[in-house]
Amino acid sequence: MTSPRTPGPGRVLVVEPMSSGVALLRAAHDLGLETVVVSHDRDDRRLPDGVRRDIDTLLTLDTNDEPALTAAVTALHAERQLVGILPGFEFYVPVVARLAARLGLPGLPAPQAAAVRDKALMRRRVEAAGLRVPRYAPACSAAELDAAAEAVGFPCVLKPTDSAGSIHVVRVDDRAELHSAYRNLVGDPRSDLGRRLDGKILLEEYLDGPELSVEGYVTDGQVRIVAVTRKFLGPEPHFVELGHVVHADLTPSVRRAVDAYVTAVVAALGVTVGPFHCELRLPGGAPVLIELAARMGGDRIPQLVEIASGVPLAHLAVAAHTGLGPDAVPVRSPRAKFAGIHFLTAPGLDRYRAVHGLDTLRGRPDVLAAELYLRPGETIPPATDFRCRLGHVLFTADSYADALEVRRLIDLGVSFE
Ligand code: ADP
Ligand code: CA
Ligand code: CA
Repeated sequence: MTSPRTPGPGRVLVVEPMSSGVALLRAAHDLGLETVVVSHDRDDRRLPDGVRRDIDTLLTLDTNDEPALTAAVTALHAERQLVGILPGFEFYVPVVARLAARLGLPGLPAPQAAAVRDKALMRRRVEAAGLRVPRYAPACSAAELDAAAEAVGFPCVLKPTDSAGSIHVVRVDDRAELHSAYRNLVGDPRSDLGRRLDGKILLEEYLDGPELSVEGYVTDGQVRIVAVTRKFLGPEPHFVELGHVVHADLTPSVRRAVDAYVTAVVAALGVTVGPFHCELRLPGGAPVLIELAARMGGDRIPQLVEIASGVPLAHLAVAAHTGLGPDAVPVRSPRAKFAGIHFLTAPGLDRYRAVHGLDTLRGRPDVLAAELYLRPGETIPPATDFRCRLGHVLFTADSYADALEVRRLIDLGVSFE
């Protein structure tokens, strides 16, 4: 039996476009594809502003309900075949892998998709390939914490095994801090995209060194590294990302080591198609994996990469997942040598009345945008994860040193009261 088909351009489906996933839709249009989005479109999964104009067909359903999602996508594919399916946010990587397999579309093998979401499984796979990882030990309850700490040693980092955004990722220096951090984690009633933390954690050796992310994609079995990002974090024990600069300032030999390590990590994790964002630290100058996500980086990193290299990661992601291949994607000349983002925070304030200095920054030729996410009077979440960020400034620079200087000027020039 053949299913009815209507002619038209190929159509690509994106599940829950959020953060950098939003750019996939515009990229699909640029590549001549029609776009379909499945989204819960309410609460913290409400579609971001401005994305609707890039959606040709919107299906609204609870995207955390896998049977419902599978039924809807299967019906859609039967009505007119999709040419590709992509996760619009990291939480949807595993379900999209299962859907791609079911529909015969390019995608990650399902077991590999599980390992890019579960940090304990990821550590095991990468370690099994003979690559360096921090010492680590999982725990599922308060009773298991001491044995895990015994195996790992202090200082160590406590983190949920499958969350994101540095939520409840914290450095702990002794038993008391460990137990209190775990109590905070299990007692936190907040949810992220309709998901709550389940008390499963990983304890890891604390890696002391600069942090990077490596942005790239896999197509036709080839790992392509596009750019390396230097990250700037807030004060520990938390790990709030406060800024990124593309390109990181690496010596050629460290860059070679990073490229080789990341290529091996991608292979060890079996990421066979699509974008990746690999976070590393360089303790003692050698790369060690924090985590690898089978999606583009968030925090506008793809935009920074495009400004500073001309390579459009979202287009390459769509091309990889639809079988179009990288040759379908035009690479432009870079708009600047370096690009950065600096996040605005207001340490010590739980709300602000006024902000100063943003207009002056906006007048600078190297400042591309300055945005606020929280309005005056709104509650500022605690400075423990990305939710405490009030806004950002996006900028270009002629050199790495220049980029650091712009970051310093933003820090000095913007104030909240
Ligand atoms: P998430 O998925 O929430 O982003 P990560 O595992 O990436 O969780 O951790 C968030 C941040 O915490 C990292 O970007 C890094 O700054 C810090 N971090 C995580 N693990 C370690 C570690 N083992 N050593 C030092 N810092 C770490
Ligand atoms: Ca991370
Ligand atoms: Ca993550």
